[in-house]
Amino acid sequence: MIWRNVVAACAAGAVAVKVALDAALPESALLHPPGARHDGAFAAQCVKCGKCIEACPYQALHAAPFDAGAKAGTPVIDARAQACRLCDGFPCVAACPTGALSPVASREDVRMGTAVINRDLCLSYKAMRCEVCYRVCPFIDEAISINYGAREGDSTHAVFAPVIAEDKCVGCGLCVERCVVGEPECAIRIEPAT
Ligand code: SF4
Ligand code: SF4
Ligand code: SF4
Repeated sequence: MIWRNVVAACAAGAVAVKVALDAALPESALLHPPGARHDGAFAAQCVKCGKCIEACPYQALHAAPFDAGAKAGTPVIDARAQACRLCDGFPCVAACPTGALSPVASREDVRMGTAVINRDLCLSYKAMRCEVCYRVCPFIDEAISINYGAREGDSTHAVFAPVIAEDKCVGCGLCVERCVVGEPECAIRIEPAT
């Protein structure tokens, strides 16, 4: 993905933000930071000031591209490039001046989205040992676990397959960032919360 620093004028002044130049994902596919509301109010409350983007110590946040409709300029995460680290105190939320990012009590309460594994691409479902996504998950054995079993139609190899618990996964994207299957498509993605 190509990013360029630009200056965005807004109610809070002029701030440097990063804007994606390539083709946009549909609005529903945009992954927003912790605390973003999922009832449609987020895009209305966010004034695109870029303060959350500046506050993120991992540079995980970028401004949604110009063709993202009402969400253009709102903070988004490209988990494959840099996932959310679920920082102590959520500096992105603390920096938001409008409440578009609302306080989150704990990391477990974050609901950015849910990880979805593409079983056609995942090495583990092909009876190879990987489990990288499992190892990197901050909620190992809760949000993601390993299902041990026989491989369908294969009497020789067992499958050590990662399985997502939808009610525990917070959508941080660390599994996506680290998936060993390469471009253009890795074997796991985040379905943003709606
Ligand atoms: S929790 Fe931390 S890493 Fe995640 S978006 Fe906020 S500041 Fe960035
Ligand atoms: S997005 Fe991936 S790494 Fe993050 S909690 Fe869910 S399964 Fe774990
Ligand atoms: S890291 Fe990727 S290939 Fe490896 S088990 Fe997880 S989803 Fe499958």
